Amino acid sequence: MSRQIDVVVIGAGPAGYVAAIRAAQHGLSVACIDEWTNKDGKNAFGGTCLNAGCIPSKALLESSELFHRAQHEFKKHGIMTGDVGMDIAAMQKRRASIVRQLTAGIAGLLKANNIEGLVGHGRLLAGKKVEFTPVNGDVEIIDAGHVILASGSTPIELPVARYDGDKIVDSWDALEFAAVPKRMGVIGAGVIGLEIGSIWVRLGAQVTVIEAMDDFLSIADRDVARTAAKEFKKQGLDIRLGAKVTGANPGKEGVSVTYEDKEGTQTLEVDQLVVAVGRRPFTDNLLAEDSGIQLDDRGFIVVDNECRTRVKGVFAVGDCVRGPMLAHKGSEEGVMAANLIAGEISEVNYDVVPSVIYTAPEIAWVGKTEEQVKESGRAYKTGSFPFAASGRAKAMEQTSGMVKVIAAADDDEILGVHIVGPMAGELIAEAVLAMEFSASTEDLQRTIHAHPSLAEAIHEAALAVDKRALNYTN
Ligand code: FAD
Ligand code: NAD
Repeated sequence: MSRQIDVVVIGAGPAGYVAAIRAAQHGLSVACIDEWTNKDGKNAFGGTCLNAGCIPSKALLESSELFHRAQHEFKKHGIMTGDVGMDIAAMQKRRASIVRQLTAGIAGLLKANNIEGLVGHGRLLAGKKVEFTPVNGDVEIIDAGHVILASGSTPIELPVARYDGDKIVDSWDALEFAAVPKRMGVIGAGVIGLEIGSIWVRLGAQVTVIEAMDDFLSIADRDVARTAAKEFKKQGLDIRLGAKVTGANPGKEGVSVTYEDKEGTQTLEVDQLVVAVGRRPFTDNLLAEDSGIQLDDRGFIVVDNECRTRVKGVFAVGDCVRGPMLAHKGSEEGVMAANLIAGEISEVNYDVVPSVIYTAPEIAWVGKTEEQVKESGRAYKTGSFPFAASGRAKAMEQTSGMVKVIAAADDDEILGVHIVGPMAGELIAEAVLAMEFSASTEDLQRTIHAHPSLAEAIHEAALAVDKRALNYTN
C-alpha cells in the first residue's frame, strides 16, 4: 500500500525547499525529494543555487575581489602589505565550507519544519502518485495530495565544444578549479561568463570571452552595458563579440578553439575552456509518459501564471518553468504554489523581479530598459547620477558607474531602475520596493536618504528625472 502525503516536492533547490517549508507552515504533511550529489559523492540539499551556483560563485567573487583590491587599492589608503599572495587551496576550502554550512542548514530547516527530506530520485506518475527511488533502499510509491515539481536546470552543452570535465568544463567545474589557469577561454558573455571570467582574471588568468552576439550584455540597459564593458576591459577581460565558436579541440597542452567573426576564421589557444552558453530546464526521467504534464518546445514544463500545470493538483516552479532562471524568482513561485495549495490567494509580480550580476562593479536592474520602454511606445523621461559624484563612493574608492531611473512622462510612474556600480545588488532593493508599491519618482525624491550613502545616488537619479538633481548638473 502506498503512503499518503499532502504535498510532495521534487527538487530541493531554492524553489523546492522554500515551497516545502511554506506548505509545512500551513500545517500540511510534506516530503521533499532530492538527488543532488556533490563532487565528493555526498548528497546535499540546496540544488544548483547552494551547491554549484549562486553561493559558491559569490564566495569566490568575494575572495578574488579582496585579492584584487589588496593588490591595487590598499596603497591608496596607506595600507602597506608587501607582496600580496593568493592561496587557491585556502580560497576553495572557504568556498566549500560556506556551501557545506548552508546546505546543512537546509537539511536542518526541513527537519525543524517536520518535512521529510528524502534523498534519491523522484518521478511523477499518473494520478498524482510519485515514485521515489532512494539512494539506499527500495522504491516507494507515494500518494500525493499535491505535487510541486522543482527540478531546476542544467548547463546547455555545445555540440562543437563537448564537456570533458578537465579541459572543457561547465560553470560548476570552473568554480572548483584547484589552480589558476594561465589562459582561460569562456564561451558566452552572459551572467555566468562574466562572473566566472571576473573571478579568474582577478586571480591572474588571461581570460578571453567569446560571445556570439554583436551587442554586449543585450539583456541590460544600453547605458549600463556600455559602462560595464569599459570597466571589464580595464580589468583585462578580453571580450570578443560577434564571434561564433565552430570547434574546440582538447590536446595535451590545452584547448584549441576556432571561431568565426566578421574578419573570418580565428583561433584561440587556452589551457581551459568554460562553456557558459545558457542553461536548459532539467526534466530528465522526471515524468512518466502518462503523467499528463506538458513540455514546451524548449523543454520547459508548461504552467500558467499561478504555476499550475495542466494536471490538477500538480504545480511546477523555478528554473524548470518559463521566466528568468533566478533563485529568488523560483523561491517566490514556490511560496505562491504552497499558498495556493493551502487555499490562500497568492501571486508573483513578474514585473518586478530584480536581476543582479555580481561583477565589479555590480550590475543590477528592475523593470524595463530604456530600449524596452521606447519600443512600448510609452512617453518617458530619464534621470541618471554618476557614482563619481557620490561622497560615499569616493570614500570607498569605487566611483565607476551610475544609477539611471526611467519614468513615465504622463503619471511619473517608475518603469525601470538600472544601476552599475558599488553594491548595486543591494541598492536595487529600494527600487524593487518602490516599484512593488507603484511609486513615482516624486515618491523617491521626497524620501530622505542617509548621507553619505550609496543610496543617495538613487535619490539624485530620481531628482534628475525632473532636472532637479542637487549634487550634479545633468
Ligand atoms: P535548482 O537549484 O537547480 O534545484 C533543483 C534540484 O532538483 C536539484 O537539487 C536537483 O538535483 C533536483 N532534482 C531534479 N530532478 C530531480 C528528480 N527527478 N528527483 C530528485 N531530485 C531532482 N541565481 C540568482 O538568483 N542569483 C545568483 O547569484 C545566481 N548565480 C548563479 C551562478 C551560477 C554559476 C549558476 C549555474 C546559477 C546561478 N543562479 C543564480 C541561478 C540559480 O542557481 C537558479 O536560478 C536556481 O538554482 C534555480 O532554483 P531551482 O530550485 O528551480 O533549481
Ligand atoms: P546567459 O543566457 O546569461 O548567457 C549566455 C550567453 O552565451 C549569451 O550572451 C549568448 O548570446 C551566448 N552564447 C550562446 N551560444 C553561444 C555560442 N555558440 N557561442 C558564443 N556565445 C554563445 O546564460 P548563462 O550565463 O549560462 O547563465 C544561465 C542562467 O543562470 C542565466 O539565465 C542566469 O539567469 C542564471 N545566472 C544568474 C546569475 C545571477 O543572478 N547573478 C549568475 C549566474 C547565472
